[in-house]
Amino acid sequence: MATGNERRIARLAKTGDLPRADLKALMATLTEDEAQILYARAREVRERVYGKAVYLRGLIEFTNFCKNNCYYCGIRRDNCKIERYRLDEATILDCCDRGYDLDFRTFVLQGGEDLRYSDKEICRLIRKIKAQHPDCAVTLSIGEKSEASYRAYFEAGADRYLLRHETANLSHYRRLHPPELSGWHRQRCLQILKAIGYQVGAGMMVGSPDQTLDDLVDDLRYLQVLKPEMIGIGPFIPQKDTPFGQEEAGTLIDTLHLLAIIRLMHPHVLLPATTALGTIDPFGREKGLLAGANVVMPNLSPTAVRGKYLLYDGKICTGDEAAECRRCMAMRVEKTGYHVVVDRGDYKAEDKRKEA
Ligand code: SAM
Repeated sequence: MATGNERRIARLAKTGDLPRADLKALMATLTEDEAQILYARAREVRERVYGKAVYLRGLIEFTNFCKNNCYYCGIRRDNCKIERYRLDEATILDCCDRGYDLDFRTFVLQGGEDLRYSDKEICRLIRKIKAQHPDCAVTLSIGEKSEASYRAYFEAGADRYLLRHETANLSHYRRLHPPELSGWHRQRCLQILKAIGYQVGAGMMVGSPDQTLDDLVDDLRYLQVLKPEMIGIGPFIPQKDTPFGQEEAGTLIDTLHLLAIIRLMHPHVLLPATTALGTIDPFGREKGLLAGANVVMPNLSPTAVRGKYLLYDGKICTGDEAAECRRCMAMRVEKTGYHVVVDRGDYKAEDKRKEA
C-alpha cells in the first residue's frame, strides 16, 4: 500500500501542486525511500522537457563591493575582513572569450551592488559581449535597480536577470536584512524585470535563520505566482564575519527535496545545482542534478579574485582555472547519466497544444 507521502508525490507529479498542509507534511516527514521516489518523478519530468541535457552558465563575479548589509552575506558592506576587488571591462571580456572557447554560451555577470559601475558602463559591457559573442546569452545578477536601469540593460542586449527573492515572507525578509531593504521592493523589482521581458530567475536560501516550513511553502506559492524562467535555490551557509556567522547551515537533504518539488511544480524551469550545494556536500551538485536540476554554473572569474568572492565559508572551486572547472564539471555531469551541451540553454516554454 502506498504511504501518505507516496500519494502526495503522485498527486504533485500529476497536478503540479499540493495543498499547503500536504506540502508541509511532505517536507517534514519524507523518508529516504520516499525521497528516492520523489527524485525519480522529478527526473522523469525534467527529461520529458529537457532530455538529458545540462546547461552551462559561466559565472563571472566581477565585483565584491556592495552597498548592502545583508546579515548572511560575506560581501556585505560592513565586512571589513575581506579584500575588495572589481574587474575592469577588458578583464571581463577576456573571461567571456575564454569561456566561449570552453563551450560556454551564457555568461552570468554577478556582483555586489557596486555603485562604481554606471548604467552606461554596464550597457557598454553588455553590448561588447553581445558583439563579440552574438550567439551567447548575457545574464545579469547585480541586484535591485531602478526600472529605467533594468530597461537600459535590456535594450543593450541583456537576456536574463537573476534576483533571488530570498524569502517570500516579508517579516522573515526583515529578519535576514537591515531595515533599509525590503522584501516588498525586491519582489517589485522581479515584477518589473518580468514585465520588461527578461527571462527572470528568483529563488531562496534553504535553511536560513528562523526559516519555517510555512515560509518555504510561502516561497513555493510565490514562485507559482511569479512563474520565473529560472529558480535558484541553495542552502544557507554561514560566513564567519557576518552577523549570522554562528548560525546553522541549511541541509543537503532539505535542498534536494525542494529541488525535486520545484521541478514537479515547474516542469519547464531552468534549475541550477548550485555551488552552495556542492559546498555542503562533495557530490551535492550531482545529487542536485539527480533531483531535477538541469543547470550548472562553473566559475569563469580570474583565479586571482576567486577566493575574494566569499559569500559563505568553505566555498568550493576557488583555486581552479576556468578550464579545469569546465573539465571537472563535464566529468561530474557524465557520471550522473546526463551531459553538458553547447547551448545557450534558453527556457523552453510550454507547448499548450501538446500538453493540453
Ligand atoms: N547583489 C546581487 C543580488 O542581490 O542579487 C547578486 C549577488 S548576491 C551575493 C547572490 C546570492 O548569494 C544571493 O541572492 C543569496 O541568495 C546568495 N548568498 C549570499 N550569502 C549567502 C550565504 N551565506 N549562504 C548561501 N547563499 C548566500
